Amino acid sequence: MHYIGTRNETISATASQAILKGICNDGGLFVPNEIPKMDKSLQELMEMDYKALAYEVLKLYLTDFTEEELKYCIENAYDEKFDTTKIVPLVKKADALFLELFHGKTLAFKDMALSILPYFMKIAAKKNGIDKEIVILTATSGDTGKAALEGFADVEGTKIIVFFPEDGVSPVQKLQMTTQEGKNTCVVGIRGNFDDAQSAVKSIFTDEQLSQKLEERGYLFSSANSINIGRLVPQIVYYFYAYMQAVKQGEITIGQKLNFTVPTGNFGDILAGYYAKCMGLPVHHFVCASNDNKVLYDFFETGVYDKNRTFHVTVSPSMDILISSNLERFLCQLAGQQKTKAWMEALQSKGSYETQELKNSEISGEYATEKETFEAIKKVYDQSGYVMDTHTAVAYASYEKYKNKTKDTTPMVIAATASPYKFAKDVMTALDKSNAKEDTFALMKKLEAVSKVPIPESIREIETKKVIHHHICEKENIKDFVTNYLLG
Ligand SMILES: *Cc1c(COP(=O)(O)O)cnc(C)c1O
Repeated sequence: MHYIGTRNETISATASQAILKGICNDGGLFVPNEIPKMDKSLQELMEMDYKALAYEVLKLYLTDFTEEELKYCIENAYDEKFDTTKIVPLVKKADALFLELFHGKTLAFKDMALSILPYFMKIAAKKNGIDKEIVILTATSGDTGKAALEGFADVEGTKIIVFFPEDGVSPVQKLQMTTQEGKNTCVVGIRGNFDDAQSAVKSIFTDEQLSQKLEERGYLFSSANSINIGRLVPQIVYYFYAYMQAVKQGEITIGQKLNFTVPTGNFGDILAGYYAKCMGLPVHHFVCASNDNKVLYDFFETGVYDKNRTFHVTVSPSMDILISSNLERFLCQLAGQQKTKAWMEALQSKGSYETQELKNSEISGEYATEKETFEAIKKVYDQSGYVMDTHTAVAYASYEKYKNKTKDTTPMVIAATASPYKFAKDVMTALDKSNAKEDTFALMKKLEAVSKVPIPESIREIETKKVIHHHICEKENIKDFVTNYLLG
């Protein structure tokens, strides 16, 4: 197996090359030339813990990594950084199964892939004889930044630069990033939104002149965003794991199908689920959940993708995205490179494109308004004592709409993508309006009391940690910032 481009099938790269490069020179994304089939039976997979399962999935995608190399990456990634040996517990609350993807160091699902990506990079560099310093450029809507910083801080041979929307992340998300230690880290607030940051980063990657200049100075760019295939592949693992947990916990019998609702921004998480289904995992349907930035909902309803609309800053900031990069991989899977290239060109030039290929798709869209998100938090808490974060709540509200519309009774797994502690203020306000006036750290103590989940250590720390990073940059100047920072 090898990797090809979403806009050009004649591009060919090994897994390690695709991970190092992050994105194709023509702006397309790397995809496997064929999605591999799982070569173990569900019965066999049932016997495995998270790490063993991870090996079975990763070996099918990272085919130029040896068994020893993959196991080294897995052992180092999924260790005590996670606060449970299950890594991703599946818990039944209210009428759904919540797949808790937030037990890693930075309390969001980004840890699932970003705990392992630095190890992939290190091995990929060695494999390809790269002696350059790898510069990880990262655009973040809030959670990727911290998870990438945590993964790459003080990793020899790397530098990491993170761009986040100065006014578009939660107070906890911001503090998590601006207090980041590590000599090789750089954190920059931008006056713009995630789409501005991601577009700038993509254009830096495809700027050949700049790449060449940097190469001369001993630097090589790569990406920690989900445009990097090394981010996507580790996310496939937990869909298999969720399934096995559901069987073990008696929610389904082996072979029976599950549904998944995934709170979506850049379309990376849900795409990993779709890949799992293509590999043979018994999944009936995916619900792609959006917040008020419902460009994906409209797309799945009408086949028209149109980013020309107002950008909303919501209480689920990690989903405040109008250009969902990984949708390109899904389109390529459905319709091939030629059409994908034309659509992406139309997206670039006029901000929209229209497809006819989505009939009978296994994915449909739903969305939740701010009010519905708050109501979902309150409702699930009142019913079960379970406190969802705002992103998980968008998914839950979307699930309810899907269920009411379709009467589909397939058991539903909700991807619980963040700990409520990251969004303590909004979560506590949803439970009681009078909390809106209180300080975030005071609300964490209240959250601890109502949820009976102890405040995670990594979040307790940031209250007293020193803010180290103060850079602010206009969205138009991101490329200049990078050039100056690296070339001086
Ligand atoms: C990143 C993120 C999402 C969206 O995931 P995508 O892979 O970008 O679709 C949802 N919830 C949280 C908490 C996130 O951090």
